[in-house]
Amino acid sequence: MLDLRRQYESIKDEINAAIERAITSQHFVGGPELEAFERESAEFLGIGHSIGCASGTDALWLALQACGVGPGAAVVTTPFSFFASVSSIVRCGATPVLADIDPATLNLDPGKVEAALKRGRAVRAVMPVHLYGQCADMDRFGQLAQEHNIAIVEDAAQAFGAAWKGKKAGTLGTVAGFSFYPTKNLSACGDGGCVTTDDGDLAVHVRRLANHGSDRRYYHREIGWNSRLDGLQAAVLRVKLKHLDDWNQRRRMVACRYHGLFAAAGLTQPQGETATGQAPIAMLASVHDAYHTYHQFVIRALDREALRRFLAERGIGTEVYYPLPLHLQECFAYLGYKAGDLPESERAATEVVALPMFPELLEDEQKQVVAAIADFYSR
Ligand SMILES: *Cc1c(COP(=O)(O)O)cnc(C)c1O
Repeated sequence: MLDLRRQYESIKDEINAAIERAITSQHFVGGPELEAFERESAEFLGIGHSIGCASGTDALWLALQACGVGPGAAVVTTPFSFFASVSSIVRCGATPVLADIDPATLNLDPGKVEAALKRGRAVRAVMPVHLYGQCADMDRFGQLAQEHNIAIVEDAAQAFGAAWKGKKAGTLGTVAGFSFYPTKNLSACGDGGCVTTDDGDLAVHVRRLANHGSDRRYYHREIGWNSRLDGLQAAVLRVKLKHLDDWNQRRRMVACRYHGLFAAAGLTQPQGETATGQAPIAMLASVHDAYHTYHQFVIRALDREALRRFLAERGIGTEVYYPLPLHLQECFAYLGYKAGDLPESERAATEVVALPMFPELLEDEQKQVVAAIADFYSR
C-alpha cells in the first residue's frame, strides 16, 4: 500500500545530515530550522505566512479559532473526510453543519453548501477538504464566501503541492491547515502541521493561539494551547520540501499508468460514474482545473470487501478512506443526523477503495494490482 522505506533510502544521507545539524544546534523548540522551514514553505506555496504547529488537527483548530469560530457559530464541511475535519470545529465550541459530496470527485459539493448557507444564519466559515490530493471547486467556494461574507478554511492536509488553476492549495481561501503526518505527501518523522494565510493579523493570531495565547512571555491575552513544530521535524521537512514537486509528479505518473492499465483491462466505467455489473470498477473524475497530487489513488469497486480480501491473499494492500461518514459516527450522534441524510457520502463509504500509491511504486507492481483485480471480477 505504502512503502516509506523506499523514499527514505533515496534521501537517507540528506535526512540524516539534517537531523544531525538540528541536534548539534540544540534548538529543539523554535529556532533556525523552524524559521527556515516556515519561510521556505511559504515561498513554495506562494503565500505570506506559514506557521508551524504540532499536527494537522491542531492546524485546523488554530485556523478556525483565529477566524473567530466559537460557541454559537456554525461551520459547513463534508462528512466524507478524516475525523479531524469535524472534530476541530467541535473543539472550537462551534457546530458542524454537514453537506453532501459531489459523487464524481467525492469533494464537498458547493451546491449543497449553498443550500446549507441559505438555511442557517450562524454560519461563520466553510471548510472544503481537498480530498485525496485534489482541490475542491475553489471558484465556487470563493464566490460563496463573498456573497455570504464568511471565511473559507481549507483542510489541505492531503494536498501539499496540489493546485487549482495554477494557485497552490493553502493559498485559495482565508486560511488553511496542512498535516505532515508520516503518510502525507510532505511528511515529517512524526507528527507536525502548519497553518497558512496571506492575512497578517490572522497569522499573528494563529501564532499567539499556538503559544498559550501569549505574545509576551508569561502574559496571556487569551486562552491558547501549546502547539509547536519541533526543530528536528522542521529540519526533515526542509529536505523533503526540495523533492516534493518531483514526488508529486511521479504520483501523477503512477495514477496515469493505473488509468491506462484499467482501461486496457476493460473493467472500468468512464470517469466519475458509478460501478455496475458490466463495469465493476469506476474511476473518480480528475477535474481539469485541479492539479491532483494523488495523496491516494481511490476507485469505486463493486463487492468491495470481497475484493479487498482477495487482494490481501495475494499480498496486495488496500485501505478504505473512509468506511463510515462522519455524520454517522457514534460521537456525533448528538448532531441529529441519520442514515439516508447524506446519501452520496454514504454510498461512497461502501464503494471506495484506495490502491497502492506512492512515488516509488513500480510499473510491474501496478500491473500485478490490476491483473489481480481483473482476476477477481472474472471469477
Ligand atoms: C491527516 C488529516 C488531518 C489531520 O492531520 P494530523 O496531522 O493527523 O492531525 C485532517 N484532515 C485530513 C483530511 C487529513 O487527511
